[in-house]
Amino acid sequence: MLIKAALVAGVQRDIRCHDGFISAIADDLRPVADERVIQAHGGSLIPGLHDHHMHFFATAALQRSVDCGSREVLSPSGKSVSTNHDTRSLRRLFNELPADGWLRGVNYHESIAGNLDGLQLDKLVSDRPARIQHRSGKVWILNSLAMAALDLTAQKNLPGVELDGQGQPTGRLFRLDAWLREQLGQQDPIDVSVLSRQMASYGITGFTDTSATNSQATVTQFELMCARGEILQNAHLMGDDSLSPSSGSGFGHLKILLDEDNLPSLADLEVRIRAAREKGRGIAFHCVSHVETLFAIAALDACEDIDAQKDFADRIEHGSMIFDDVLPMLQKLNLSVVTQPGFLLHRGDQYQQNLTAHELAHLYRYRTLLDAGIKVGLSSDAPYGPLNPWQVMHCAVSRQTIAGDVIGAADCVTPEQALAGYLSHANDPGGVGRDVAVGERADLCLLKSPWGDVRQRLGTTEVAYTVISGKVVYAC
Ligand SMILES: [Zn+2]
Repeated sequence: MLIKAALVAGVQRDIRCHDGFISAIADDLRPVADERVIQAHGGSLIPGLHDHHMHFFATAALQRSVDCGSREVLSPSGKSVSTNHDTRSLRRLFNELPADGWLRGVNYHESIAGNLDGLQLDKLVSDRPARIQHRSGKVWILNSLAMAALDLTAQKNLPGVELDGQGQPTGRLFRLDAWLREQLGQQDPIDVSVLSRQMASYGITGFTDTSATNSQATVTQFELMCARGEILQNAHLMGDDSLSPSSGSGFGHLKILLDEDNLPSLADLEVRIRAAREKGRGIAFHCVSHVETLFAIAALDACEDIDAQKDFADRIEHGSMIFDDVLPMLQKLNLSVVTQPGFLLHRGDQYQQNLTAHELAHLYRYRTLLDAGIKVGLSSDAPYGPLNPWQVMHCAVSRQTIAGDVIGAADCVTPEQALAGYLSHANDPGGVGRDVAVGERADLCLLKSPWGDVRQRLGTTEVAYTVISGKVVYAC
């Protein structure tokens, strides 16, 4: 394949891809027989984007789910349309879906219709099995038909199944995504190809699925979907303690979920970190609070005698709240922070209501981290944050809420810094960027215009072609 007249680092060049790699870059390359030629018309050619933190299956499932936190349910300010939990708009959204099969809702929050359990959910949906995910991603709420379909009374001893005073399931399931997916596999299959094509249209050529529940079975599932062409991107997985570097795309990090209300023992954590390091794995900590970040640092510090994996940088996922005293420690441990400024747009109004001014000033920091010499990878955390990387980059630059307020102006970055967050290698978020150069993988994103124009209107998606392994997977 030959790309004619593209801007590479600001200079107009022709680029040839062969066998999945960039084989030549020159001022004037002539097409060989049967070679596909793409005219770039002076658009910039950049490496394909890598989303460093997302949940692929949950995002695919979202595409046919009710967004319980959507504008139709919430007012533009992010508050529920009625303070006394008027559920009419939510019920209407549910009723718009065809009445066969499972109903799936996501992005639920107590401000919408109160603290939901199975019985409360029955009042909203009682004609089919329904499951609603809380916005935190930690909890699923099932109605009575869903509980019956999953035979939940027989699963009372499963950790994560909440029981009421009489020892009966309430309908709330905590951190049981993998179990739920397994149970629903037959009843409610998910088509992932639509999502993969959508990501290709954004210029995304790779992603890291950061779900803590990813296991050997998930790796096999991903590999099958990639082999069948349902997933076009380079998929990297982090996951549970069972993964190892030999498990194909499952070579990724050990994902450790921290919850400041229920922190594990430091000694147990140390055992897990050491076992993962011995397998050659990096460590990724879910940290949304200051306490969780301090705890992750303490755990990694305690294991400092075992070499951190040079090929797989240890990471802090989210780093939602990072105070200044933590910066030297992040730097010393060479930790990458994988951030999601898209939340400032989607949840900014609620942050403003619920957080102190001091907390707001330390939310999803970016510029401060870069200035302190800390690597920052950019990501969506889809389906919880916006998937479109151009929207996320725009948020990193503007840090605006839906209402137009700016949160933490000192942490605004330039469009170039935001783009760099998506161009770093899968295993080194925020590290040295990938490049459009001979010998590099032909995972590319051709923009419709020169970068100098695109950077002015970053929030619009201006992708003309996306190429993965030298093959066009998206053409505008
Ligand atoms: Zn996540």
